[in-house]
Amino acid sequence: MAAFDEVVGKLGFGLMRLPRVGEGEAAPVDVERVKTMVDAFLAAGFTYFDTAYVYHDGASECVAKEALVDRYPRESFTLATKMPGWLLKEPGDVERIFAEQLERTGAGYFDYYLMHNVAGNQIKMYEDFGCWEWARRMKDEGLIRHLGFSCHDTADVLDRLLTDHPEVEFVQLQLNYLDWEHDAVQARACYETAERHGVPVVVMEPVKGGTLARLPEDAAALLAEADPQASQASWALRFAASLPNVKVVLSGMSDESQMAENAGLLAPDSFKPLTDDDRALLRRVVEIITSVEVVGCTACRYCTPGCPQGIDIPAIIAALNTQRRYKDSRADIMYEHALADGSARASECIACGQCEGACPQHLPIIEVLQEAAGLFDKEG
Ligand code: SF4
Ligand code: SF4
Repeated sequence: MAAFDEVVGKLGFGLMRLPRVGEGEAAPVDVERVKTMVDAFLAAGFTYFDTAYVYHDGASECVAKEALVDRYPRESFTLATKMPGWLLKEPGDVERIFAEQLERTGAGYFDYYLMHNVAGNQIKMYEDFGCWEWARRMKDEGLIRHLGFSCHDTADVLDRLLTDHPEVEFVQLQLNYLDWEHDAVQARACYETAERHGVPVVVMEPVKGGTLARLPEDAAALLAEADPQASQASWALRFAASLPNVKVVLSGMSDESQMAENAGLLAPDSFKPLTDDDRALLRRVVEIITSVEVVGCTACRYCTPGCPQGIDIPAIIAALNTQRRYKDSRADIMYEHALADGSARASECIACGQCEGACPQHLPIIEVLQEAAGLFDKEG
């Protein structure tokens, strides 16, 4: 069976921003609420779930078991997870991590399996640890049904990877209307590269980590005028789902209302692709957004586990962006919340550069934190 033949609808349930019991990053996942969301997702006719070894520090794969695998027939859904190349240190780590993933999820096999964030210096890690050969063996043994990778790199790199690995059946890319023509992210060029190779696309970050659901006032007004009922996020989801070579649009849904809205929007029998007028409107929105320069952080959190100072980089960047865009007290409150959740102050950065090497958006994090320190740590 070809990749995605068995997937129904274009909405994928990304298990990376699950609801928690209580506040803060350390609060446990609210499994009972996830069960309700899983039920609603499947009842709406969708089937694609996406987790990863590292989501919620490993809890996401366990929650997939509890909320999904243990409660539904295995053939009634498809499950994707990912190998974290940056955690491979010793021979045998690939096999150990995969065995752990099978154990955590109880899934027996993975319908979709990805090398996670194949980009930059991580490309070599996947080669050095023989991940591609290993994955081919797992396919032969039936433990992986379809092989892919997620990629945050340039179109040239993606082209090379797809040429070197014809066994790859799909790629996961960050595509959204704001990054479509972005010089560094190269969303359009990456999409077209995958299309040229005949490789279908799973979209991650269609709402750009929430950025496209919190538009500046004048951009929001444009969209509200065009369709008063449509949320800002719905425009971003429709943009991604309207692309013909996109098979799944992942949404990291964190509450029931988001689930209901997304399921309604992307329902296979009633989905409305963007019209030419809609696309022109989104180009005007992009012009407005890009006229206010903000830091393009997607809150993926790849940068935080290795920070020796324990700085919650995305939370601080979110506060800084709020300050740049709105210039009001919301930014100070966000910064204080980040500190209350256990982050060190922006001014405690020692400029070691670990985070910049891990950031798929290639952000100048050290410089950004210096700006945040100047704004928020004046007395600290
Ligand atoms: S450069 Fe600063 S923020 Fe980045 S990992 Fe090092 S200490 Fe943390
Ligand atoms: S700074 Fe980069 S790595 Fe860190 S959360 Fe933002 S986008 Fe992700």
